[in-house]
Amino acid sequence: MNVLVLNSGSSSLKFQLIATDLDRIQRNEDARLLRGEVERIGGEAIVTLGKSNGAHQTLTAPLRDISAALDFVIRWITSDKSGLSEVRGPADVHAVGHRVVHGGERFSESVIITDDVLKGIEECIELAPLHNPNNIKGILAVRSLFGAGLPQVAVFDTAFHHSLPEHAYLYAIPYHLYRRHRIRRYGFHGTSHRYVAYRFRVLRNVTREQTHVITFHLGNGCSAAAIRNGDPVDTSMGMTPLEGLVMGTRSGDLDPAIVNLISAKEGLSAHEVEALLNTQSGLLGISGLTNDMRVLQAELKEHDDRRARVAIEVFCYRARKYVGAFLAAMGGADGIVFTGGIGENSPEIRAQICGGLEWAGLTIDPERNKKMVGKEGIISSEGSQLAAYAIPTDEELLIARDTVRCILGEPHPS
Ligand code: ADP
Repeated sequence: MNVLVLNSGSSSLKFQLIATDLDRIQRNEDARLLRGEVERIGGEAIVTLGKSNGAHQTLTAPLRDISAALDFVIRWITSDKSGLSEVRGPADVHAVGHRVVHGGERFSESVIITDDVLKGIEECIELAPLHNPNNIKGILAVRSLFGAGLPQVAVFDTAFHHSLPEHAYLYAIPYHLYRRHRIRRYGFHGTSHRYVAYRFRVLRNVTREQTHVITFHLGNGCSAAAIRNGDPVDTSMGMTPLEGLVMGTRSGDLDPAIVNLISAKEGLSAHEVEALLNTQSGLLGISGLTNDMRVLQAELKEHDDRRARVAIEVFCYRARKYVGAFLAAMGGADGIVFTGGIGENSPEIRAQICGGLEWAGLTIDPERNKKMVGKEGIISSEGSQLAAYAIPTDEELLIARDTVRCILGEPHPS
C-alpha cells in the first residue's frame, strides 16, 4: 500500500510517500519512496523534493493555499518527473495519513477519518487554534482532489498520552474549569515518544508491558515522557506545548504570575505575553542570539559567549530536573532515550543533561555517545543501571503504519 503522509502547517506542508503493509511492518521493511516539503504557501512557494536515492530538487511555484500545494505535490509525484515506478497515477496513492495535533479527550488512538471524526477534530480547534484548522484544511484538500473514496487516517499528537492518570493531567485549579473548558494536561509529540519507546523495547528485547523508559524529544519544541508498562504516566507539555522543558523559542515552565507582571510592566496584552513566551523565549530569549542549538554551541566554542553558555546550561539543567522528577513519578525506569534534532545529533547536550546522574545509576560512555550522531544505539556505559540511547525519531513511519493498520481493521499497538 502506498501511503501519503501529510503534516499540514499554516504556511508549510511536509509529506512523505511510504510503501508499507502488514508484512513489511512485521519485517520492518517499509520503503520510503520520497519525501518533501512545501514552504511559504500563500506566495511564491518553495518546494523541496527528495527521492529515496538521496537526490534533491528545489522548485518554486505560486501556490495560494494548502489545496494548491497538495495539488502540485500530487501532480509531481504521479508524473514522470518523480521517476517513481510505483506511482503512475493518482490511483497508485492508496491512502493518506495525517498528523493531527490535537485530539482532545475524545481521540485516544489513530482513526479512519469520517464526517463524525472530522467534526471531532473541529471541536478540538479551541484547544489548538493554530494547528487543527490547518490539519482540517489538509484533510479537506485530499477529499476534493482524490474524492471521498480514498481512505484517510488521523494520527494525533496527543493520543499516546491518553493513559495519563488523573493525578498527572489535572491542574490544581478550580475543578469546574476542567469540566467547563477542558483545561488539563494533554501532552504533545505523542507519535515521536511512542515511536522511540517502541524502538527502545525492540533494542532491549523486552515486551511493551516491560517498557519503563523516560523519552526526551529535543528539537525546536522539546518534551519528555515518563513511560511505565509501555504507557505514558506523565509528560512535560501541558494544555499547550508551552509547558515543560526549555525549547528553541518557548519558555517552558514558569511562575504563572509572571504573565501578569510582564503585561503590566511592558504594556502588553495577555495574548501578546503568550506570544512572547512562545516565540521570543527559551534558548533565543536567554541567549539573545538564536533558537538554534548548533549555532549556540558554535558561539560558545568560537567566542566563549556568556549568554550562549547560560542558555545551554538552563536548557540542560531543566531537562535533568525532569529525569529526577519522572524517576520519582514512575517509580524508577530502565532507560532514557534522546530523540529530535538536538537529542539525536548532540553528544555534548546529552552528556550535559546526564552529568551528575550517577546517583540514579546513569553513566554515559563518552566514546559510544560521541559516535551516536543521527544513528540508533546505546550511549550509556556497560555497567550503567539506567541504559541511555539515542534513537532518531520517525513519526511519518508510525503514521504510515497506523494508516495501514486502521484501514485493515488491525490493532495498532503503541
Ligand atoms: P523540529 O522540532 O522543528 O522538527 P528538529 O527536530 O529538526 O526540529 O530540531 C531542531 C534543533 O536541532 C535545532 O536547535 C538544531 O540546532 C538542533 N540540531 C540539529 N543538528 C544538531 C547538531 N548536530 N548539534 C546540535 N544541535 C543540532
